[in-house]
Amino acid sequence: MSGTDVPVSPTAEGSAIDPLVAAAAGYPSRYPGGLAAQPAGRVAVLTCMDCRILPSEVLGLEAGQAHVLRNAGGVVTDDALRSLAMSQRLLGTTAVMVVQHTRCGMTGLDDEAFRRDLEADAGRRPGWPVVPFTDDPQANVRAALAELRDCGYLTHRDDIRGFVFDVDRGDLTEVDAG
Ligand SMILES: [Zn+2]
Repeated sequence: MSGTDVPVSPTAEGSAIDPLVAAAAGYPSRYPGGLAAQPAGRVAVLTCMDCRILPSEVLGLEAGQAHVLRNAGGVVTDDALRSLAMSQRLLGTTAVMVVQHTRCGMTGLDDEAFRRDLEADAGRRPGWPVVPFTDDPQANVRAALAELRDCGYLTHRDDIRGFVFDVDRGDLTEVDAG
């Protein structure tokens, strides 16, 4: 194949994933290995996928210490409950820490318009449930705590706490469940 025949692909100038793969090449030398699948800290963290939050940095987590579940908003979805139920029943965690944050990208999202646009592009409507999300992160965390504490799928509901991470200051504030 001559140079002019090389097909143009989205990866022609390199994939956005390449630097991550390169970084991973240096990881084995730092990885402790020999860890159990059961989190040593017996805690599961539910937080937003926001790129400004690095749970291991903020919470001082090492490999083997905690489950970290992430989704858009750090909200209690069916899939989050599925993972938390497995975390508790199969892998021995007993506490749930919810961490949402200020200036979340989901704030002000018109859920109905978002789903309508997706349907227009994809030809079918997403089946995901609507998760209420307000402009008040404290209120959102309270709603998440209430839902988790009321969820019979979770074996352990005595140690469920919620926090708001400030993406400007980098600090964590506990939310009174009220
Ligand atoms: Zn967010």
